[in-house]
Amino acid sequence: MITIEKDKLEAGLELSQLVLNHMGAYVSVKDRDKKYLYANQKLTALFKGNFDSILGLTDSELFDFSIYSDVIDSDERVLNFGDNIEKKEINIIKFTDEKKIYLSSKQPIYNNQQEIVGVLCVSTDITESHYLQEKLEIEATTDPLTGLFNRRLFFKLADQFLSESIRHNKYLSLIMLDIDLFKDINDKYGHLIGDQIIQFVAAKAKSLLRKEDIIARVGGEEYVVLLPNTHSKVAQLIAEKIRISIDSSYITGDWLGGIQPKISLGVSTYTEGDSEFYEIYSRSDKALYQAKSTGRNKICMHEKMNDAASHSV
Ligand code: GH3
Ligand code: MG
Ligand code: MG
Repeated sequence: MITIEKDKLEAGLELSQLVLNHMGAYVSVKDRDKKYLYANQKLTALFKGNFDSILGLTDSELFDFSIYSDVIDSDERVLNFGDNIEKKEINIIKFTDEKKIYLSSKQPIYNNQQEIVGVLCVSTDITESHYLQEKLEIEATTDPLTGLFNRRLFFKLADQFLSESIRHNKYLSLIMLDIDLFKDINDKYGHLIGDQIIQFVAAKAKSLLRKEDIIARVGGEEYVVLLPNTHSKVAQLIAEKIRISIDSSYITGDWLGGIQPKISLGVSTYTEGDSEFYEIYSRSDKALYQAKSTGRNKICMHEKMNDAASHSV
């Protein structure tokens, strides 16, 4: 229960102090030198043990800005340009090294001459929800079985890379990869061991790629590899490297003997005139189909020239 026994004005001031000190946010006022003129109890408590009061101090005495300097930049914008700012800020408290994410709202304080004399800042700790959101974003873009990108993220990135290739006339190649006769593996060993083979192929293919290449799982035992700045000849070499590596694998585990999966691959490349990613995708798909229908465990390439048929490589 809140009881106020003073006269009205004092009661009003006392009430505002009470509100500021008990709200769930960090409230501060800094002067033009960015020194604290006011800090509510919640903010002062962050530095308990180091300072009884933070009045007169600056942020650089309280936070480690060696990595994140945008806190200071946003104060400058408020003080110099009168901007109202609402943004996420990352702060590291100097004494505990604790990393915190805040949603901060900053606005200028004016004097009677309409000059900016300070900055009012109200910050809320959103560390937990920030990391939760990050986790959800990762989950929404990752295939849970293999840890590769999922179909959704792949097509989003592919569109971006294609735009880049169109604009700057850069090479871009695509490999589509599918495990051969995978149904037989599932039938012989069961679905769970089948899953392990899907994981193995994913990890093996990924380990043979460059950092800038993008590999994703787009179907049950089907993967795609996008190779930025890569000529079709190099893409074929990469595809062959992956095929040989899988072909020579002998996977042992909690089962009798070893499993030797095989894969077929379809390669295509960005060609002038392509305006949608599905054009490249469907050429790789055709090439993969040809690899499947002409013996499997091989690579086929589908070139665009007059929509020519695919050929083996
Ligand atoms: P092909 O050489 O023509 O590709 O023959 P295939 O047997 O691999 O043909 P298909 O693509 O029709 O079969 C894929 C099988 O993969 C069918 C499906 O039951 C299985 N599958 C799909 N998703 C998963 C998965 O997440 N785990 C496991 N273990 N199997 C899956
Ligand atoms: Mg298959
Ligand atoms: Mg398949």
